[in-house]
Amino acid sequence: MNLIQPLEKSDRPILIAGPCSAESEEQVMKTAEQLAIHNVPVDLFRAGIWKPRTRPNNFEGIGRMGLQWLKRVKAEFGFRVTTEVAKTEHVFDALKAGIDVLWLGARTTVNPFSVQEVADALKGADIPVFIKNPINPDLTLWIGAIERVYSAGITRIGVVHRGFSKFGHTIYRNVPQWQIPIELKRQFPDLMILCDASHICGNKEYLFEISQTALDLNYDGLMIETHIDPPNAWSDAEQQVTPFELKEQILNRLQVRTPDIEGAEFRENIEDLRSQIDVIDRELIQMLANRMQISDLIGKYKKKNNISVLQPARWNEILEKTMEQAKPLELSEEFVEKILKAIHQESINHQEKIMIGKDFKSRVS
Ligand code: PEP
Ligand code: MN
Repeated sequence: MNLIQPLEKSDRPILIAGPCSAESEEQVMKTAEQLAIHNVPVDLFRAGIWKPRTRPNNFEGIGRMGLQWLKRVKAEFGFRVTTEVAKTEHVFDALKAGIDVLWLGARTTVNPFSVQEVADALKGADIPVFIKNPINPDLTLWIGAIERVYSAGITRIGVVHRGFSKFGHTIYRNVPQWQIPIELKRQFPDLMILCDASHICGNKEYLFEISQTALDLNYDGLMIETHIDPPNAWSDAEQQVTPFELKEQILNRLQVRTPDIEGAEFRENIEDLRSQIDVIDRELIQMLANRMQISDLIGKYKKKNNISVLQPARWNEILEKTMEQAKPLELSEEFVEKILKAIHQESINHQEKIMIGKDFKSRVS
């Protein structure tokens, strides 16, 4: 693929900002106005016009009339504008209204029929397109969507990483699984990649941290949802920030590294590696928590069937199998054994808690 950058790069990260959904002309215009007043460096003003909702009877978007509001934003504030398209009519309407950039949402990328429909509608158009990752952690599906859009003649393509859905409780709405976009970048080094921190977080709390991690991992920029009155937003109320908060609490705090100072390359490499380590550590903790959740389920089953917590044969099997796996991976036996025992001990504590209903600190060595 011979990709062209969908947006111009500068020495600061690219920013796509705007409300999750266009709700009313006033809400759209006021949000844009606040962004302008606070000098937020907006490269693209976003607003969902057609909203794919997980469950029915939620606000499904204002529809094509909202495109006129985006045109007003462009005319009055000079921001270029973008929206999500998922169907042929969306593409036609958006092109007709002069929308500058389009994006495919996670619920579209996941479905090759839908991606193909959008790609077919795009044939002959000359417009940049961003492709969000699919809902599930499947890199091939993501690449497939890029290829379908590229085959339709679109060469200005970028991607947006918005995290992946996961069953069970996590601190994120969509877990980042950074290693997936990192692998995508490895395969397509020139592909522009933005991080949609809002949909990864699902709340305001981690927006800064996720945005910083993305920049530390050399992302080209960010997509962040911003709304004039977040608590009363018609969609994604918990994760939106006001334009002022976006500027003060996120953008002003972000560290952007400049590549042209002495020793910068070295520092950049080290920081890159450290960010990757931080990411892996966070994931390790999450994986351990997931393992304990499964262990709890086994504990409940054991209790119901009156089976003892410790099954020596099973424990031996885990130990042997894992040590075997660790051998060629250059992890010392001593280290792996220590970790496994600590994990096993925690599992036992969890299951004992289920059996007897209180903390039980036994030692298995
Ligand atoms: C959005 O950006 O408003 C949206 C619906 O995002 P996603 O496709 O990532 O869920
Ligand atoms: Mn949203």
